Amino acid sequence: MTDDSEPFQLSCPLPHMSSEFIKLGHGSGGVLSAQLLQSVFLPAFKNKVLSGLEDQAALSIAGAPLAFTTDSFVIRPIFFPGGDIGSLSIHGTLNDLAVGGAKPLYIAASFILEEGLAVADLERVVQSMRRACDESGVLLVTGDTKVVDRGKGDKIYITTTGLGLRSPDFQLSMKQVELGDKIIVSGTVGDHGMAIMSAREGLEFETALESDSASLLPLTELMLGSDGAGVHWMRDATRGGLSAVLNELVEARGFGLEVEEKMVPVRREVKGACEMLGLDPLYVANEGKLVAAVAADRAEEMLERMRGHALGRDAAIIGTVTENHKGRVILKSALGGSRALSLMLGELLPRIC
Ligand code: MG
Repeated sequence: MTDDSEPFQLSCPLPHMSSEFIKLGHGSGGVLSAQLLQSVFLPAFKNKVLSGLEDQAALSIAGAPLAFTTDSFVIRPIFFPGGDIGSLSIHGTLNDLAVGGAKPLYIAASFILEEGLAVADLERVVQSMRRACDESGVLLVTGDTKVVDRGKGDKIYITTTGLGLRSPDFQLSMKQVELGDKIIVSGTVGDHGMAIMSAREGLEFETALESDSASLLPLTELMLGSDGAGVHWMRDATRGGLSAVLNELVEARGFGLEVEEKMVPVRREVKGACEMLGLDPLYVANEGKLVAAVAADRAEEMLERMRGHALGRDAAIIGTVTENHKGRVILKSALGGSRALSLMLGELLPRIC
């Protein structure tokens, strides 16, 4: 054990709930991120639009219903199976507009480059961004470049801002979600996070893991049609995974969610990798999956519609909005047990997006 000169140190594997200094966990999309938002950003900027805490701001300017959003990308490595920081930075911002029911129109991009980055790598990233813009019919119309000293950055960070046009005929927000709504996930969860982890740590699995990074716009357009088709709210399940999205909803609205664990689609190889590393795929990041709350009487029809598209082929109804379990997500296991699916405390995998 230990002697008097070396006192036995107990340490807690969970991060402290408050801190004087920023930790990697403050960028996780979990409890620490939420604390930072509540204690620093919201008190400073509080306004009606921001307080909605959606992934995009729903604005109205001169009568035009707009959606506006911004995201930073600090992923490591910058090239990974299934994508790179360039395509990811466009998909991420497009998806935040698309899940708000908006048609993305314009993108702004800001680059922070580290001295010593190969110009060929920058060109590869930029070409990838251009292809992602072309695929979704958006234009990158303004931008900025800054360079920091060698060792003061990590190759490249990108911030993208997007502007889109919302439909005047329906509105998607957490406020629209009703008791009895069905929760639909558009496909397998955990693909992006496990692909990044295997690329970063040099882990080899039987089947290569690939990020699901993709623009969700074709799927959201198909889902919503011209009248919203009974969809009340959507969000893309990025960092913090499916659990973060579901917890944000119950926290904002105070009702409960019951989720059938066996209905959540997880790729066999992702499940295997998660088991090996002791991770729960419900907490692992996605970059091409959305979660929707849909009116109960429209949910089956919506599921069929989603499954008709490659991006929604594995879509599943995974749960229901309930009066019970107020403010909590309850996960029902295949064996009949149940447990609360809480928001992740700190950081599962830093710099995942
Ligand atoms: Mg989002």
